[in-house]
Amino acid sequence: MSQLAAELRRLIRGEVRRKEPLHKHTSFRIGGPAEVLVLPRDEESLRRVVVHAHTSGSPLYVLGGGTNVLVPDDGLNGVVIRTTRCLKALRIEGESVIAGAGIALPRLAALTVEAGLSGLEFACGIPGTLGGGLVGNAGAHGRSLADVVTDVWGLDPEGREIHLTHRECGFGYRRSTLGGALLITCARLALSPGDRDKGREMMEAYLRWRRSHQPLGFPSAGSVFRNPPEGPSAGALIDRAGLKGYRLGGAQISELHANFIVNRGGATAQDVLSLIALAQREVKKQFGVTLELELTVL
Ligand SMILES: Cc1cc2nc3c(=O)[nH]c(=O)nc-3n(C[C@H](O)[C@H](O)[C@H](O)COP(=O)(O)OP(=O)(O)OC[C@H]3O[C@@H](n4cnc5c(N)ncnc54)[C@H](O)[C@@H]3O)c2cc1C
Repeated sequence: MSQLAAELRRLIRGEVRRKEPLHKHTSFRIGGPAEVLVLPRDEESLRRVVVHAHTSGSPLYVLGGGTNVLVPDDGLNGVVIRTTRCLKALRIEGESVIAGAGIALPRLAALTVEAGLSGLEFACGIPGTLGGGLVGNAGAHGRSLADVVTDVWGLDPEGREIHLTHRECGFGYRRSTLGGALLITCARLALSPGDRDKGREMMEAYLRWRRSHQPLGFPSAGSVFRNPPEGPSAGALIDRAGLKGYRLGGAQISELHANFIVNRGGATAQDVLSLIALAQREVKKQFGVTLELELTVL
């Protein structure tokens, strides 16, 4: 066992895995090994990992659901933390919800609807965690997390708790100034009173829409590019560029939704990066539009 892994084992409660293949932890099913992957079991252990990575000079990566990232084929040096076994606390006080960053958005949407609250139904089919969702201001059906988040708490590299107000999160379309050196631990959401049956119906309709519009049968990381601020969507541009269904190695621009790249089996990060570069080049050449990445390349 490497020194880093041995030290972390002594320090924390939870699992410490050496040379853990990250394709097991991403929705793309792509990615080489993490030098050390840590699954802390409680918040104090999480804090200790953050501090240890900082003091030992090890690079630190955070994975929530791993549903919006591309991990390189040769993996990641340093420490990768997954938040999904800790940061799961949920407190509902009237219309205010304080939720751990490791909670899956579909679960959070369902729990708040069942608690008689409205405002998070849109998130029922977004497969990641609240933490990852806040970093990218995840959204769908005309709504996003920025519409409901009032406060965010996190840890800085020295393990100190940081509090940010909505204004300090820098939310924009599929972006924020969160992430980076801040590990998000929880957030407060302001919801409104809702009708349970109506909420359930909304979520069923959203999930039906997804099943018919998104290639959910293959591993992917959701939308690859942000939609341009005006004009046709990224998917429409890639489609018009003639790239729908284009395949490179194991990766393919989805035949159903051209802003999704799917893993048809054995795709490498390099296959995906080559498809990304091809789509950006062709869309720029044919329509003069620069496509910006929505997914994060770690
Ligand atoms: C089939 C499919 C459909 C999707 N549909 C949508 C959609 O409709 N709308 C949408 O917006 N997205 C969609 N996505 C993308 C993705 O689910 C969301 O962006 C999700 O919110 C990402 O959360 P995650 O926990 O998986 O983040 P990850 O992929 O784990 O991480 C994303 C980024 O956030 C960082 N991060 C994660 N957790 C934390 C934390 N606690 N603190 C600090 N940084 C953190 C990571 O380091 C990384 O940079 C879809 C993805 C798939 C596979």
